[in-house]
Amino acid sequence: MLCKGPYGVSCHGFPFAAVTFFSPDLAIPGVEASNLTELTTFLDRHLPSRDMFYAIRIDGAFPYVKARSVPAQAKPYPPLADAISHEAIFEFRNVTGTVVGFYSPPAAAGMNVAGYHFHFLTSDRTRGGHVLDMATAGDTVELDSTPRFTAVLVPEGLASTGPEH
Ligand SMILES: [Zn+2]
Repeated sequence: MLCKGPYGVSCHGFPFAAVTFFSPDLAIPGVEASNLTELTTFLDRHLPSRDMFYAIRIDGAFPYVKARSVPAQAKPYPPLADAISHEAIFEFRNVTGTVVGFYSPPAAAGMNVAGYHFHFLTSDRTRGGHVLDMATAGDTVELDSTPRFTAVLVPEGLASTGPEH
């Protein structure tokens, strides 16, 4: 184990992670969106402030999810752009699972992806990835307003690939 991240999370084996203890402050029921742009436009109208971090969770049945996943990498670790060139793209239709993600304010650009960033995991927790597109059909969106941001750097330099994924 190379290091221990905040909250006891091991940071061995991955170059970047955004984590939080999820404690929703706001639940928006009945969210219907035919694609990711519609969902983020909807969320833009419902965020109490655009200058805050939000953890976002959606549990339910999704008409459509398109996600990408990069295979496990081995040392010497390639740059993220090279790793992504071998990514697999999955499409799920009428799938149950969980979408988790973050909204990061514009002021956080460079430290994290500004705006929305979602990952999907099937309900059996065996498949998923970085969300490229998705649709919702009446699911509840939970938001955890998060005013604090802590950055923990990896001393071995494994974090050199940045937060793009
Ligand atoms: Zn991602």
